[in-house]
Amino acid sequence: MKINEVIRKAEEIAKKYNPEGLSPFPFHRIQSDNSNLNIYLSNSLEPKISGIIYFDAKDKTFNIFVNKSKPETRIQFTIAHELGHYFLHQDYIVKKEAIVDDDNSLDGNNILFRTDIYERNKLETEANNFAAILIMPTKYIRKAWDKLQSVEECAKVFNVSVSAMSIRLEKLDLI
Ligand SMILES: [Zn+2]
Repeated sequence: MKINEVIRKAEEIAKKYNPEGLSPFPFHRIQSDNSNLNIYLSNSLEPKISGIIYFDAKDKTFNIFVNKSKPETRIQFTIAHELGHYFLHQDYIVKKEAIVDDDNSLDGNNILFRTDIYERNKLETEANNFAAILIMPTKYIRKAWDKLQSVEECAKVFNVSVSAMSIRLEKLDLI
């Protein structure tokens, strides 16, 4: 998938479900509009796992489980990342039954232990780009940056980590 397609899809979803630019992102709107999608916060995932998206072949649903023990900023980013897989990678998830994301997937590090490493890394990059645009929409980031001129303050406003905000601002050539 081309980067422009990922950007277009993320912007379309952001506009549809969060036209006001609310933060944190109102994920429940996506949940209630997509009957084949369930989002759960879970206490029972292994500590190194941030999130999972799993396809249930019986009822044809996509089920997102996010590790509730992580910091709030990580939880928000993980939900957005798993939604990236949901909106962009349904065929892959159905074929493989699940995508399991540890911290490496979300921090953009290579997932070295996987055999299908090239394809999988590509999917992770796409999901991270989708997530960043979804929860840090271009229009609102520019406004916040004009006003605040501080990476830390912007990160607080959008409920994301300072490193996630830095990457987003760099990509928009604002820092
Ligand atoms: Zn992932």
